[in-house]
Amino acid sequence: MPSSVAKEGYQFQRANSRNQQSSSCPSRSASGSPAAVTPPSCDDVVDEALAELQLQSQQQKQKQKQMIHSVKGRSGWQIKSSKLAFNTHNRIRNIVESLKIKPNPEKPMIPLSIGDPTTFGNLKAADETMKAVLHSLESGKFNGYAHTQGHEASRQAVAQYSAHQRPEGAIETSDVVLCSGCSSALEYCILALADRGQNVLIPRPGFCLYHTLAEGLDIEVRYYDLLPDQQWRADLVQLESLIDENTAALLINNPSNPCGSVFDEKHLRQLIDVCERHYLPIIADEIYEHFVFPGSKHLAVSSLTREVPVLSCGGLTKRFLVPGWRMGWIIVHDRKQRLGNAVIGLKNMCGRILGSNTIIQGALPEILAKTPQSYFDGVIQVLYSNASLAYKMLKQVRGLNPVMPNGAMYMMIGVSIERFPAFKDDTHFVQELVNEQSVFCLPGSCFEYPGYVRIVLTVPLAMIEEACVRIAEFCERHYKKEDSSRSFIEHGLLDEEELGF
Ligand SMILES: *Cc1c(COP(=O)(O)O)cnc(C)c1O
Repeated sequence: MPSSVAKEGYQFQRANSRNQQSSSCPSRSASGSPAAVTPPSCDDVVDEALAELQLQSQQQKQKQKQMIHSVKGRSGWQIKSSKLAFNTHNRIRNIVESLKIKPNPEKPMIPLSIGDPTTFGNLKAADETMKAVLHSLESGKFNGYAHTQGHEASRQAVAQYSAHQRPEGAIETSDVVLCSGCSSALEYCILALADRGQNVLIPRPGFCLYHTLAEGLDIEVRYYDLLPDQQWRADLVQLESLIDENTAALLINNPSNPCGSVFDEKHLRQLIDVCERHYLPIIADEIYEHFVFPGSKHLAVSSLTREVPVLSCGGLTKRFLVPGWRMGWIIVHDRKQRLGNAVIGLKNMCGRILGSNTIIQGALPEILAKTPQSYFDGVIQVLYSNASLAYKMLKQVRGLNPVMPNGAMYMMIGVSIERFPAFKDDTHFVQELVNEQSVFCLPGSCFEYPGYVRIVLTVPLAMIEEACVRIAEFCERHYKKEDSSRSFIEHGLLDEEELGF
């Protein structure tokens, strides 16, 4: 038996050591009994001692193990979300889900809240745009991974399409980074420039994604105010007061969601000037470039400065009406090489998910070259007609103060909430508007701007008209006439002379 051989060897070793310990021990074989006897045989003593030792060392190991475990807090299943994931919130969803909504069953729902322009079926992608994807697919050439920044030819096409952003010279393919939608472009830019504890300046009212992207990473967002009575230009003094040594970037969204405003050249130069004085790079969310109404002109902020580095974010989503295709890009404008290793950081970001959808990349050159201007003009025409009609109708409604947009797909409407004493704020106003009239707008709170509501302009004209009729009816019903003069007199705050009686 091999085990006995092994045992013999083992015993031989023990015998040697035993002999050193005690030479008077009777041998086990001599005792004639394998059972434990008193006094125990030397072998037994040694066995026991060894067993004891083994047990001790086992227990010690176990104890050590337990100690390690308890030090690390691992005594059971304790899975929890990472801080980043747990602190990532979509403000619109949170606010909308908190509303107590029960649309009026007698009126069909008009959702003026939905930012996806393809929802209503009146705005569709151009045939040329869709055929380009077919061709890309059929070629069979775009099933593999691309360079993480995107295929060379696709980036070349975006560089050409964006030539207006750099009038003095060509955009290189190395300046173009293709991303999964403009959202991912923005994420790369914010993450490439800002560390935990740093801050980024973002507009208020503004698109809530900026906050969503930053907050989980402990990147602070600081809001600079846009002024509704100055065509939503930034309050430059307040903006400048927010800048400190930890400010990593100024984010500009032009044309703006939710305001629909388009900055003129003078204002863009003012913003550039602030950045130049404080050595701040600009992240430009220009997803709505070209989305401007007759009479307005969009200028890329990068076209106005060679001093301030600009990361311009754009994509197919809005202009080509294909949000689901997830194709966006960053154009790096860094004429004086001031971004330093942030450019390397930005490109490193592409390695995280190995680049964007290659079928759409393959289609990009054809999409950008072949989608006709008449198509874009048609879309702008729809938005502009809707904006003009909604503005005209809502301006006549007491308690409302619409701000006519110059671009993008939205309109902000001021609500003089003190004229509607039945409602405590914009969110409450929106909730009851759904419940009575089945018209759903987004409260300004979704954009850090209470006191306003936002409507989308991408719905069919008849729907906008019907929505405005219902909003007017709702407001008339809840509007309380100003009788502040009487209440002021009653409260003794004003006398009749001051009121001019
Ligand atoms: C829609 C939108 C985006 C996101 O675009 P995707 O390409 O769908 O990621 C970014 N910024 C603004 C201001 C938007 O309105």
